Amino acid sequence: GHAFTTSVTKEDLGRATWLLLHTIAAQYPANPSKQQRKDVAALVDTLTRIYPCGECAFHFQEIVRRNAPATGNAQELQQWMCNVHNNVNRSLGKAEFNCELVDARWSGLDCGDDMACDITSRMGRG
Ligand code: FAD
Repeated sequence: GHAFTTSVTKEDLGRATWLLLHTIAAQYPANPSKQQRKDVAALVDTLTRIYPCGECAFHFQEIVRRNAPATGNAQELQQWMCNVHNNVNRSLGKAEFNCELVDARWSGLDCGDDMACDITSRMGRG
């Protein structure tokens, strides 16, 4: 391969994706707009088809089919994400994560004083 190519394992991809998904959930608003609710549902649905690990995408599709994304508010989405992640953990024989601790583990992007990552300030654009 190319000198700058690094191989991405299924585990790397999984950790990066869970990081993104739990961070989105941590920053999801208490009162999401219709657009924000649609966006989360569309992201999850899209991953069930184009997630780069095909076998994972297929498993995830089955999990999501039994368990539709709960997009009503931040709390619901964080718990939904924790639950679907636990579904994957179970199928891989991994320990379950205590979903009461999800806030402590995933607190959103550290933006310092920059409010640009506050999703609420973007609501007007949705
Ligand atoms: P990960 O499971 O990647 O978790 C990262 C960190 O999240 C953990 O260290 C922990 O701090 C925290 N965490 C763990 N569980 C939870 C939870 N329930 N809620 C909140 N935080 C939590 N791999 C396969 O081999 N087969 C598959 O079919 C498969 N399907 C996948 C489907 C999706 C949608 C995704 C995103 C990943 C999938 N993976 C699959 C990858 C797998 O889930 C792991 O990411 C990978 O095995 C690396 O695991 P890990 O032990 O490093 O921690």
